[in-house]
Amino acid sequence: MKKKVAIIGAGFTGLSAARTFAEAGYDVQVFEKEETIGGVCSDYEKDGCIIQKYGPHIFHTNDETAYKFVCRFGEMKKFEHRAKARTKMGFIDYPINYNSLEILYATDVERAIHMMNDDIEIAKTIFEGERDRNFRVAAICNLGQRIYDEVIHHYTKLQWQRDPHQVPFEVFSRMRISYDRTGLFFPDRWVCLPVKGYSVLFAAMANHPNIHIQPRHVVACDLDWLTDEYDYTINTGPCGILLGEENNETLKLEFGYIDEPAFSLMPQHGVINYCDSGPFTRATNYGMFNGIPGCLDFIISERPSKNGLELYPVRTKNNIKIHEDQKERLMRKGVHTVGRLGDYKYINMDQAVLNGIGIAKSIIEWEE
Ligand SMILES: Cc1cc2nc3c(=O)[nH]c(=O)nc-3n(C[C@H](O)[C@H](O)[C@H](O)COP(=O)(O)OP(=O)(O)OC[C@H]3O[C@@H](n4cnc5c(N)ncnc54)[C@H](O)[C@@H]3O)c2cc1C
Repeated sequence: MKKKVAIIGAGFTGLSAARTFAEAGYDVQVFEKEETIGGVCSDYEKDGCIIQKYGPHIFHTNDETAYKFVCRFGEMKKFEHRAKARTKMGFIDYPINYNSLEILYATDVERAIHMMNDDIEIAKTIFEGERDRNFRVAAICNLGQRIYDEVIHHYTKLQWQRDPHQVPFEVFSRMRISYDRTGLFFPDRWVCLPVKGYSVLFAAMANHPNIHIQPRHVVACDLDWLTDEYDYTINTGPCGILLGEENNETLKLEFGYIDEPAFSLMPQHGVINYCDSGPFTRATNYGMFNGIPGCLDFIISERPSKNGLELYPVRTKNNIKIHEDQKERLMRKGVHTVGRLGDYKYINMDQAVLNGIGIAKSIIEWEE
């Protein structure tokens, strides 16, 4: 008889696991609380333009397994992702590169690098012994006070709704300087978008006789029927709700259409980060994502909101401890937990794919 697996959540992690189990002959039931599948990566079409519901999602990876897996379910198109940061000095390339350094320091690149390194040396002296403790100190010691003030402070404070010295240090590890002038956001081997959008790709991934999706089904703390009915239960959502507790703290964002005429001056750029002022953190021009860069009808803003969707785990030491304890207690109830909110950490889509495949394979191999 086929082994039965229950998967909570139909995002990239849940569906990658579901597909791997299904192809190995398991009977897979996916429970998804939303009407649609795809989780944070889902999208919709408006007037011929694919809009990503929860912020710009570019599939980028150096991992061949992840790339090939995704390509099985839909054609991917190469995408050159470029972003700008709006600062008091004007628009600069983001991530910071030679072009941005020249604007920020109002001089040529050699001199700008020299000045940035001087700023870094001064910061290291000031914050001696404190370097790794929080985001603010890490950013100033690695980029210098000027870049921190112009590019980092306002954006981080707004996004995380707290002073940057209270933002977890590890958030800084996602920031980098590009020592070139290409303006490309991602350095990876494959940087692409699904030609027909993620939702179409997810539908293809879920299209297997062994996969059954139940939308609008929130799995809550009544887990016994699940673990009794299914041989394995995999959770890709937050752990709190499954234990009858609060979900762990996350940063929530809200999305809405805005006018942003600045995109007409930079048709190669899909994203603007607002690093100087205002209520929004960033805007995305989905016209550009869809090959119609001059069209400004599809620009979506992002801003933090208490009523928004749970997006970024706030990985303070205390929250990590709460999460590890919750995950452990779920494991004791027979529930394996994985994914963005399941593991309570930021992961890229390729990691979500690999995590989903990985958990399924480990169980399949164990069964053999
Ligand atoms: C704003 C933003 C931009 C990003 N941009 C990029 C990018 O450009 N490139 C990149 O590689 N990555 C990006 N990411 C990361 C990417 O979104 C994640 O890697 C990916 O979404 C993880 O998928 P997941 O399945 O783990 O989680 P999710 O997509 O969150 O899926 C979890 C699913 O579980 C469901 N669920 C949760 N709890 C329950 C429950 N109790 N019962 C039933 N269903 C439940 C949810 O509704 C959801 O559908 C970005 C993330 C954010 C937040």
